[in-house]
Amino acid sequence: MIRERGKVSIVGAGPGDPELITLKAIRAIENAEVVLYDYLVNKELLGYCKPDCQIVYVGKKNKQHTYPQEEINKMLIEFGLSGKKIARLKGGDPFVFGRGAEEILGLQEHDIEFEVIPGITAGVAVPGAAGIPVTLRNVASSVAFFTGHQCENHKTEIQWDKIAVGIDTLVFYMGVTQSPRIVRNLMANGRKPETPVAMIRWGTLPEQEVMKGTLENIVAKMEQYDFKPPAIFIVGEVVAYSEQLSPLINQMAKTEI
Ligand code: SAH
Repeated sequence: MIRERGKVSIVGAGPGDPELITLKAIRAIENAEVVLYDYLVNKELLGYCKPDCQIVYVGKKNKQHTYPQEEINKMLIEFGLSGKKIARLKGGDPFVFGRGAEEILGLQEHDIEFEVIPGITAGVAVPGAAGIPVTLRNVASSVAFFTGHQCENHKTEIQWDKIAVGIDTLVFYMGVTQSPRIVRNLMANGRKPETPVAMIRWGTLPEQEVMKGTLENIVAKMEQYDFKPPAIFIVGEVVAYSEQLSPLINQMAKTEI
């Protein structure tokens, strides 16, 4: 019998709440013989795995990496060449600060079949679930997404002088430890110190925490409450809008600091 060739599904597992995942993603998990999953993937989703599915945790939390990225790429290739059906689960969307593209390159080199299953990205869903729309008619007609990590490569360095006042809503992933640098660069390039901002930790989950402030005071507030990652940092007038929402919607911001 000729063994079928393997296939890797690069799956977006959504922002945290286990119900915020696509049907297509669930089907890929149900059919998988091997699942490789990341730190921010809700473990409840592993309940969809077949009983004999091989489940491998390959997460990265801050600087603690169980496997370096090259090792993950290699594992995917090895499982793929052995003819297995693999679901590679990533938090949010695999192509938004998710290294999905890097993993695909290795698969392509070895002629391993793959598919990409998009997911709900934290940068939109986390503010949304806390009552903050990323765009708003007559308030914010542009939104952009950034990583708070500093790049090794100057080619992709954020151009603070262009974005500080050029975009209405700025959403930073991985922005907790780098928040002093982010707010300094934005204010130095003309964004008003009183601009409303929010830090939202563990968005869409029962542990969710929302800390609101201004560009000028958020860092001191974070220090005061020892605010930790993972969080989305959102900057712009849309943050003030959430204050006007009904109390019912505001309850979604479970703990507001
Ligand atoms: N591919 C993912 C992002 C991976 S980068 C996506 O599309 O959402 C990891 C960063 O995402 C975290 O450091 C944090 O900034 C953000 N993040 C992911 N899930 C989150 C959540 N539930 N609450 C707050 N931030 C989250």
